Amino acid sequence: MRHCQHCGAVLAALTFEGGRTRQQCEQCGAVAWRNPAPVGMALIEHEGRLVMIRRLAAPLAGYWAPPAGYVECGESVPEAVIREAREETGLEIALDGLHDVYSRADVNVLIVAYRAHIVAGTPVAGDDAIEIGLFKPGELPREAPPSSGLAIDAWLYSVILDATAPWCRN
Ligand SMILES: [Zn+2]
Repeated sequence: MRHCQHCGAVLAALTFEGGRTRQQCEQCGAVAWRNPAPVGMALIEHEGRLVMIRRLAAPLAGYWAPPAGYVECGESVPEAVIREAREETGLEIALDGLHDVYSRADVNVLIVAYRAHIVAGTPVAGDDAIEIGLFKPGELPREAPPSSGLAIDAWLYSVILDATAPWCRN
């Protein structure tokens, strides 16, 4: 981003306490904010099993993960979680409460994970999913840590481990 979205003037990089930088318009003072993008994640339990999809796209393409996707303008985080679950799994879900919020300073995404249960539909791998599975505790797919060296891959891997921990025990 080089020019102000409001007036078109050139943006200047300003440095703040702690070394953080921010782009600000020299003419009108508007700040070009850069914020982590929110992602909603659904931890869907059905008859004691956890619904997982194998991811089609990066980050962690090919890895098993709970359904998740970006929150879009015009929807709340819970609405995004329900929509993503529908798109990726074919399931209509109802949310059972917040599981956790995950964020890391060097990753420009934050994940809001909700517990959920199925209210309708049959599991079908949809958008962004190679396949779908329902896993009993202790039977979740075990995957090697990513070797890409990318912060987002390492972080998402750790988020998946943490969010699915209740189903990882035998
Ligand atoms: Zn401006």
